[in-house]
Amino acid sequence: MKSMKIGAGYDVHRLVYGRKLILGGVVIPFEKGLMGHSDADVLVHALCDALLGAVGLGDIGHLFPDTDPQHRNASSMKFLEKIGGLVHKHGFYIINADATLFAEAPRMAPFRSKIEANIASSLNIDSGCINVKATTTEGLGFVGRGLGIAAEWIVLIQGKTED
Ligand code: MG
Repeated sequence: MKSMKIGAGYDVHRLVYGRKLILGGVVIPFEKGLMGHSDADVLVHALCDALLGAVGLGDIGHLFPDTDPQHRNASSMKFLEKIGGLVHKHGFYIINADATLFAEAPRMAPFRSKIEANIASSLNIDSGCINVKATTTEGLGFVGRGLGIAAEWIVLIQGKTED
């Protein structure tokens, strides 16, 4: 039997003026952007952690420390490509990955398919394997007050060979 593993990932970044809002590698027009050492792509960071969790390789902060100057303003899609490569190197395929993005604004619907296609392409998988949902939190909490954006993912991976 081929083994299957699941992984979960969660991340939060603060919304601030003077930064671009980048989600899934897509620049989204908005008055604020996410604060962080890299491009602060919260959606991609949470996916990186979910994939690393599934394979059992720790977390993104361990692999790409924010104390490393070479990661300053780095595109998080590059982290994702590397981690996708690690999943394969460890003998697994990605079966599917499902996200929920928590943001009071802006509306994500117009960017959803572009984000899914972007993520799928950097992982070298079919875009049908990636699903990105977005929700508000009805004005409640840090998301509801527009202070930040959160993202969570669940991923399923399967071994390439029989156990
Ligand atoms: Mg992060």
